[in-house]
Amino acid sequence: AVPVALVAGLSRAAHFGVLVKGARPLEAMGRIRTLVLDKTGTLTDGRPQIVTILSHGDLPQDDILRLAASLDQASKHPVAQAVVAAAKARGLPLTLPTNAAEFPGEGVSGTIDGRPVVVGGHAFVAGKIGHPARDPENIRPGSVLVAMAVDGQMAGHLVMADPLREDAAQMLVRLREEGVARILLATGDRMDVARHITAGLGLDEVCAGLSPDEKVQLVRTERDKAPVMMVGDGVNDAPALAAADVGVAMGARGAAASAEAADVVLLIDRVDRLATGIEIARRSRRIAL
Ligand code: ADP
Ligand code: MG
Repeated sequence: AVPVALVAGLSRAAHFGVLVKGARPLEAMGRIRTLVLDKTGTLTDGRPQIVTILSHGDLPQDDILRLAASLDQASKHPVAQAVVAAAKARGLPLTLPTNAAEFPGEGVSGTIDGRPVVVGGHAFVAGKIGHPARDPENIRPGSVLVAMAVDGQMAGHLVMADPLREDAAQMLVRLREEGVARILLATGDRMDVARHITAGLGLDEVCAGLSPDEKVQLVRTERDKAPVMMVGDGVNDAPALAAADVGVAMGARGAAASAEAADVVLLIDRVDRLATGIEIARRSRRIAL
């Protein structure tokens, strides 16, 4: 039988917007020592806004955004959704891509209006077109950078801002108080962006440029040392969530792509509730044992 303290804990956690899918994950959550956080959509707001559009050829800025957004309709990535939203907000007419192939956490390739287009992270797009991965210059540090190539040429970049969540620092302080000894960032984004955005947060480690598989590997390595909770939002985070002792999906904005793979779904758009959840789990566990 499930101890009544755990049942009470589940209901209390749900009251704070932390949906725990059963007594076993709640119990596991009370034992967490290491936390692995995804960046985009977890530590940051996750709805990047366009700051600048850089054109490297003769394509007007609106065309760069229109082609990038048309192709990004094929992706559920939070950055892709932000690109699509930005194009729609500007009233740009989008075309549905053909032959779209998504590379999770990296980008998409496909055909728009009969032309080959690639959209995604700079290194990914550069690699696809065999372009030297030299960075565009004068980018504001910490910017989320989306590259777009058309007809095999690097056509432009969307420079986007994705600020830290307001309660991110508070969450980390509270997690330390709850005895979480090791807190890591695991992102597919670039190291310079990851470092800039997390400066001053006191993370134990920042791991950047990770593929979805490498996120899984990181979780496994950490699990050999101590119980791990992994928090993420995107489809590409699902394997890492499943590999952790406790996987948490950010689920406040409708059906999170990773919700099914998760043991816990955060139904409120506040990361500090993760600390509340752990606090409740630890207390329920103490009472139940
Ligand atoms: P995180 O692990 O922090 O959530 P991701 O690995 O999901 O970050 O994404 C890292 C970067 O890859 C993004 O900042 C963006 O530049 C790029 N990216 C990935 N997928 C796409 C896509 N479909 N469209 C545009 N950019 C993408
Ligand atoms: Mg993410």
